[in-house]
Amino acid sequence: MDCLFCKIVAGEIPSKKVYEDDAAYAFLDISPWQKGHTLVIPKRHTADVLEGDDVLAEVGPAVARVGRLLKDRLGADACNVVSNAGSVSGQEVFHTHVHVIPRYADNPGIANMKAEVTADLDEVHQTVVAD
Ligand code: AMP
Ligand code: ZN
Repeated sequence: MDCLFCKIVAGEIPSKKVYEDDAAYAFLDISPWQKGHTLVIPKRHTADVLEGDDVLAEVGPAVARVGRLLKDRLGADACNVVSNAGSVSGQEVFHTHVHVIPRYADNPGIANMKAEVTADLDEVHQTVVAD
């Protein structure tokens, strides 16, 4: 199947991996809304979180772990957890993904979620995955 995120799971397209378990894979968003913006995706292909009954449960543990990891490693104060389901909602990649968006106290509120920061992805990645 010609799916960008299936290719990322398969390692055919590079990604900055943050976390992985049996069912889910997490990597830095290439155009971050906030420093550390991460996408959590199921390893099996589904179009969005509303497909069937189980997709959200499959990625749930990974979402929670990634959110805590980002708060811990990046000093984020909070997170937005968002999944767009359907093109009218803003979904552009049709393999389920949950946006985990770290939030910082100097830029609070839902209206500022999509700040489109210019964080250095390599630097952020090193900070998040450091042992
Ligand atoms: P959505 O609009 O909810 O479908 O979000 C798709 C997200 O995927 C956007 O935030 C993009 O920046 C992100 N994205 C697209 N291609 C890549 C890629 N190759 N690696 C990482 N993130 C990507
Ligand atoms: Zn896919």
